[in-house]
Amino acid sequence: MTIDLADPVALAASIQPPTRAVIGGRSIDAASGQTFATFNPATGSELAQVAECDAEDVDRAVAAARAAFEEGPWSGMAPTERKQLILRFASLVEAHTDELAVIETLEAGKPISDCSSIDIPDLVATLRWHAEAADKLYDQLSPSGPGKVGMVVREPIGVVGAVLPWNYPLMMAGWKLGPILAAGNTCVVKPAEQTSMSTIRIAELAIEAGIPDGVFNVVPGFGPTAGAAIGLHDDVDCVAFTGSTEVGRHFLRYSADSNLKEVLLECGGKSPVIVMADADDLDAAASGICEGIFWNGGQNCSANSRLLVQRSIEEELMQRIAERSRDWVVGDPLVPETTMGAMIEEEHLGKVMGHIADAHEAGSTCAIGGHRVREESGGWFVEPTVFTNVDPSSRLAREEVFGPVLAVTVFDAPEEAIRLANDTDYGLAGTIHTTDLRTAHLATRAMRAGTVAVNCYGEGDITTPFGGFKQSGFGGRDKSIAAHEQYTELKTIWMDLS
Ligand code: NAP
Ligand code: MG
Repeated sequence: MTIDLADPVALAASIQPPTRAVIGGRSIDAASGQTFATFNPATGSELAQVAECDAEDVDRAVAAARAAFEEGPWSGMAPTERKQLILRFASLVEAHTDELAVIETLEAGKPISDCSSIDIPDLVATLRWHAEAADKLYDQLSPSGPGKVGMVVREPIGVVGAVLPWNYPLMMAGWKLGPILAAGNTCVVKPAEQTSMSTIRIAELAIEAGIPDGVFNVVPGFGPTAGAAIGLHDDVDCVAFTGSTEVGRHFLRYSADSNLKEVLLECGGKSPVIVMADADDLDAAASGICEGIFWNGGQNCSANSRLLVQRSIEEELMQRIAERSRDWVVGDPLVPETTMGAMIEEEHLGKVMGHIADAHEAGSTCAIGGHRVREESGGWFVEPTVFTNVDPSSRLAREEVFGPVLAVTVFDAPEEAIRLANDTDYGLAGTIHTTDLRTAHLATRAMRAGTVAVNCYGEGDITTPFGGFKQSGFGGRDKSIAAHEQYTELKTIWMDLS
């Protein structure tokens, strides 16, 4: 499908995203016949009605996934063959980049430029990377001595449930699907209710690519019904969740109350960025800081939402941040020049504005922005916002806002910066800007976070694990070979030949 990025109206009108569940290789309605509305965050208007799956549909999807795992060709397939099918799937996704980017933009309010140049390419690259790993991982022989053969092998874990967030719908789907499928598992995916359609579309493409029926099922619906049914299902072997820490806790309870399924949680964050006075390129630091908090409108688990700056450079850095923040264009997400789209829903907009109101009340200084904008569009937009003079114990410094709101706190001694950086319930990411090698090394080791970046805003790449310390995560990591291992069971095969 060729899409003209210069014509947003034609763009939106040119596609009709799918809205039905995908179970056992077929597109079907929810058993109850119920549907729910999905909205365009940039206009506030309804886009479509989506199948509202509940426990009955989850039962059907789990049964399809179980049958595909036990009887189907997938788990028993030679890894090279499985690899070829996932690669074909990735190529089909790539061929549909424009269409998928538009669906994602319409439903998530994300800039089309991000969707087409970051989110969809990331999905394609992730599927390819994990597919390529499928036939390159070896099992082990134990060092047990003569006469004994101890084989330590990895086997697919079985049926995996994946419950996903709305902020990077296809990227997060890819981080789960790549290793789940490459390791030989089957899955039941519940996208966030706000962003179901792009995930349904890629399930259709997986079927078109020849991935066997029942391997990749999608059950759109609500968390407390469809999501809970996956978490509580006795025939789901593992659940991979990305979302808020609060909902993550539910999945541990669901597991305890059902079959003790494996639980993998990628949760929230309140990540710090430290800028030392010796940082030599404050302009680059300011660009990275803005990217870290304004990318995806701050609706990013690893947003660098706390800036800790050494006192002597505060004024200069804040000046650069003010300049760089003007580079961020809040606008219609379908317009290619837009770099910041809408908040996902009205309720979330209210939550972000509530944090801004609280920050004022707590005595912080609003140095940049602070308002809802583009109200006439009907959409849910907030401008880039920076508060200085933020008390580390205040709500803005401690709670995940999930919006474009940066909290700035000044420190004097480097040890104070590390103490403030680690003074959080979360531990997903962290950043330090410094030219001193010793400071960089000591700080990266001292920061309690899953990813620590130096002199840039970055999360690594597909070869590096992604996940959190403390209440940012539990049980595993997305990306890299670590992600394969978490979707396998370790088996010992013991032979005494002596
Ligand atoms: P969320 O509200 O926690 O929802 C995540 C998923 O869980 C959705 O599919 C949701 O369904 C479902 N859910 C909600 N309540 C449930 C329940 N009681 N039982 C079972 N499932 C339930 O998170 P979100 O608002 O979509 O996403 C934002 C959060 O995700 C942020 O906290 C962010 O930090 C985190 N995140 C983390 C990472 C990471 O890798 N660490 C990456 C991206 C996002 P509904 O459709 O009904 O909401
Ligand atoms: Mg939600």
